[in-house]
Amino acid sequence: MNAFDLGKFEEEAQEQWTHAFESNPSKLEKCYLTVAYPYPSGAMHVGHGRTYIVPDVIARFWRMRGKQVLYPMAFHVTGAPVIGISKRIAKNDPKTIHLYRDLYKVPQNVLDEFTDPLTIVRHFASEYQRVMTACGISIDWRRRFTTVDPTYSKFIEWQWKHLFEAGHVIKGAHPVRYCTVDDNPVGDHDLLEGDKAEVIKFTLVMFQLGDAVIPTATLRPETIYGVTNLWANPNVTYVRALVDGSAWIISQEAAEKLGLQDHAVEVQEEIPGRDLIDKIVSHPLCGKVPILPADFVDPDMASGLVMSVPAHAPFDYIALRDLQHAGKYIQIKPVPLIKVEGYGEIPAKYAVEKAGITHQMDSRMDALTQEIYSAEFSKGKLFERYGGKPVRVARDEIAALMIESYASKIMYEFDTRPVVCRCGNKVKVKILHDQWFLKYSDPAWKKQVSDHLGDMALVPPEVRLEFDRTVDWLKDWACTRRVGLGTRFPWDTTQLIEPLSDSTIYMAYYTIAHKIREIDPKLLTPDVFDYIYLGKESPELPEKKKLEAMRKEFLYWYPYNYRFSAKDLISNHLTFQLFHHVTIFPKDKLPQGMVVFGMGLLNGAKMSSSKGNVFLLEDAVCDFGADTVRMFLMGSAEPWQDFDWRNELVISTKKQIERFFNTVLESKDADGEPHDIDRWLISRLQSHIDRTTDALTNFQTRQALQEAYFGIETDLKWYRRRLAENSDGSRELHTLCSVWIRLLAPFIPFTGEHLWKELAGEGLVSFAPWPVANEKLVNTRIELAEELISRTVEDIESIMKLIQITPKSITISIAPPWKHEIFLIIAKSNDRNTVIKEIMKDDEMRRRGKEVTDAAKQCTTLIHRLPPHVVEPLAREPINEIAVFEAAKIFLEKEFGVQVHITDAESSEHTKAATALPFKPAIIIE
Ligand SMILES: [Zn+2]
Repeated sequence: MNAFDLGKFEEEAQEQWTHAFESNPSKLEKCYLTVAYPYPSGAMHVGHGRTYIVPDVIARFWRMRGKQVLYPMAFHVTGAPVIGISKRIAKNDPKTIHLYRDLYKVPQNVLDEFTDPLTIVRHFASEYQRVMTACGISIDWRRRFTTVDPTYSKFIEWQWKHLFEAGHVIKGAHPVRYCTVDDNPVGDHDLLEGDKAEVIKFTLVMFQLGDAVIPTATLRPETIYGVTNLWANPNVTYVRALVDGSAWIISQEAAEKLGLQDHAVEVQEEIPGRDLIDKIVSHPLCGKVPILPADFVDPDMASGLVMSVPAHAPFDYIALRDLQHAGKYIQIKPVPLIKVEGYGEIPAKYAVEKAGITHQMDSRMDALTQEIYSAEFSKGKLFERYGGKPVRVARDEIAALMIESYASKIMYEFDTRPVVCRCGNKVKVKILHDQWFLKYSDPAWKKQVSDHLGDMALVPPEVRLEFDRTVDWLKDWACTRRVGLGTRFPWDTTQLIEPLSDSTIYMAYYTIAHKIREIDPKLLTPDVFDYIYLGKESPELPEKKKLEAMRKEFLYWYPYNYRFSAKDLISNHLTFQLFHHVTIFPKDKLPQGMVVFGMGLLNGAKMSSSKGNVFLLEDAVCDFGADTVRMFLMGSAEPWQDFDWRNELVISTKKQIERFFNTVLESKDADGEPHDIDRWLISRLQSHIDRTTDALTNFQTRQALQEAYFGIETDLKWYRRRLAENSDGSRELHTLCSVWIRLLAPFIPFTGEHLWKELAGEGLVSFAPWPVANEKLVNTRIELAEELISRTVEDIESIMKLIQITPKSITISIAPPWKHEIFLIIAKSNDRNTVIKEIMKDDEMRRRGKEVTDAAKQCTTLIHRLPPHVVEPLAREPINEIAVFEAAKIFLEKEFGVQVHITDAESSEHTKAATALPFKPAIIIE
């Protein structure tokens, strides 16, 4: 009894795979693939599954193609997130407990120990390893490490010594995202929300109100000349605060934020927003203006009060108009100050009216604001009375003037909000002093990276633009933290190297990870790593034999061939690692390629652990089988596309594997004599081999499955249909099964191993030779003949459906030779216009007259419709259609249950016979 039982196949294969994927330097060409290592703070979901399965399929493919493949894995445990998690678990935070106990299914006795952050990462690291293994991911686990291992810290210290010596590590003051609860800068990994938010520099324009000033934050200081009023929120409680000794009126939030940005702030009293309404303020550049009420003013945005320029800001325009519709403030008129082509006298009014926007809440308001902002910046000019300069010039000049002469200050704020820390606190912008930075802003360093990027293979190619942009935009990066796990910063040991800065060249560490742990960490000086990675000799190196072995490993494996990661890491990790590589390693050891993944969706919605919208990978493996999960994830989208996990589709994938399994078992022992149809099957198989190989070479897992699974399955269906009655097929089926199992083995390795044994294949299918197409087995003539028959069968079927009679006979009428000639001339010709002339050169053709021009038209249409793989060989040499159909007569009669006649169209009396064309015979059903 050989039943389809994925669970059993998994057990069988796991026994044989225990050490199978441990990989050492050899005589073979190497292929080194790495994927961004996980931060093990929770259970893996199916989105993670894809991240590790794509490189696994590629690793398995190259392994079968005879390369020495290395696919290692480690765990990134640096940083503060697990510390926050352990604190929340210690405090019995219900949300966190729910996530870990109910969603991640952590047993209570283990959960009780999660008050220690290291226990959390240790627990999930071993869970990750267990689930990855269950998924059949072919990892060399000897090289596993975590980023808090003492030897790893020694490696990081060596890396930073080089960064420092190259002048890339600097100390300074800098605005950073900051959590006041954690008292720590906030990295991308520490954010619950707002990872796209950027820190923006605003100019505070100071309006005088009695003895105090009201600062309003703006990105467009040049519009001061068009200010008609300020906006204050009547429902907000503002404060009067002494800021660096002078009185400011600002929101409470702003008072706290300014305190983080190098200002001495002392709150004196609260001022209800409504008390500010209708007060008159003044600024030397715009005169006296009133404060008007507006609910939309957000106290958590910059200073909490804003200036209003209704002529150029759509929000201001509409808010003013709404008040005026209620009969208030009708004396206020928008004051334009910028001329911009195509936007009328008053650009905000023009744009709002053109878009037909009637109220502030219209969802198009943001886009409209952005549109005017861009138009005015790129082609706007200030009016002559305000200096007449282009906006892009005037903006900076006026900002400088305000700071110089009108007491303006700079305030940093996020461009989008909310920005929320993992601890739940709102993140603010703080200016850090004595903060250490990686100087990614350095143009020379950027250039080194850009130059190398030009030499790299990027998949898909369109991500190149995003990499270029990131290199261009990267600013200095705060690279140390006060709280968390990780390696101490060598120049200030109260600080730790933050997570995105200690995970940039660890791909080089994998090459030695299993050997370096044999050496006492105390002996691991920078000289040791200089020797292993850079070949620098120095006296008194310890354990020289072991170091030599490590140097050999590094030289063999490095540089890595491909790095795989999700696309949201382009803006940080994937680009950072290039900066670090170009600094430390010689040119021939720089990364060669990157493959960037799309996102995972669950039933159409973005997967997110924190929102609970995930399907755990282990549950998926239990419910559907590892092969099913793999094949679904690889087949539903190409790696760089987003995929959508839907259980009903996963179930149908499982049925496909079962069909494959049954077909192989039914076919492998067939022993009939081969006929033309067998040659057809084997000929087709060669192109499936080629196309699957090409697709996997290009990381197209979906395309590869289309060929390797569906392509072959469709052929086999046709093959079975074409077999003579009572035939189970020929011994060629055994060859096909052997190829088929191997083509699918990277995708469904468990089923693959089981069937490989059934087929008495040698060794493990995981290491079996990848099939290679044999050109000698390709038979274009037979493929064309079969294509002609299958197309004709389809035509007959659709005609029968249409006429709905019970036929007595079917006549297939073949086009005469002169039509074949026309077909050939058109198929070969590049210029469809002169082709008629060429045809008419022939006397006989001229005699036929209109008949020929009609046939030429029909042939042209037909050639357009036929695929190139049909037209091209036909243009070289026509096939004998009568012989093809005569040979298939028994088949056709069996298919349709009636007599089939094959005739030459010109000898037929039936009028329909005249419609016969090459490769499209006339079909007469009676
Ligand atoms: Zn926090």
